[in-house]
Amino acid sequence: MKKKVYIIYTGGTIGMKPTENGYAPAKGFLREQMEAMPELKHDDMPEYFIHEYDPLLDSANMTPDNWMEIAMDIYNNYYEYDGFVVLHGTDTMAYTASALAFMLEGLAKPVVITGSQIPLYEIRSDGRVNLITAMQIAANYKIPEVCLYFGDKLLRGCRSVKFSADRLHAFTSPNFPPLGTVGIDIKINWDLVLPFPNRDFKAQRLRQHNI
Ligand code: ASP
Repeated sequence: MKKKVYIIYTGGTIGMKPTENGYAPAKGFLREQMEAMPELKHDDMPEYFIHEYDPLLDSANMTPDNWMEIAMDIYNNYYEYDGFVVLHGTDTMAYTASALAFMLEGLAKPVVITGSQIPLYEIRSDGRVNLITAMQIAANYKIPEVCLYFGDKLLRGCRSVKFSADRLHAFTSPNFPPLGTVGIDIKINWDLVLPFPNRDFKAQRLRQHNI
């Protein structure tokens, strides 16, 4: 039976469209791009459902309310899917990954956050391989953690940091080794992956967040 992945599309460069004023997110555009990708129809790829947020955000405008929305979305769809992919702008991706790691308690399925430096629309987009790999990891690898996948590395979400605005391998994890590396094969460092939780899954609400 095909695995099922729930894709949360919050905004960011990956789904942006060229406009007179530069790249901007546009309703339905990411879905169109994905429908045109033959790779996503391959037998090895999972079934997927896309939940596009409204409005689509540049991640500089993300707030804790948006983190809550993502956490509750995962909570509400948790038992229907094998894994979750969150498409997000790169600028605050590491912050959202950290917040989700603490909000999703007792998580026993992979939540993989990713995006791109170049929109999917462009020929040299890094979004294509980031998206495909994130979907494969979310579908097929039983990693009970919030992770960030970018370039060639799978990082623990709450240990990740963006270190470059123009490199395609833009994220690193200076204080913890990668949970996985992606080259010819996807290699997971299982010794570093968190053990399966022995409590029920719940999404912690953020009550006071005046910063
Ligand atoms: N400004 C964009 C964002 O963070 C940059 C990106 O997605 O790479 O939403």
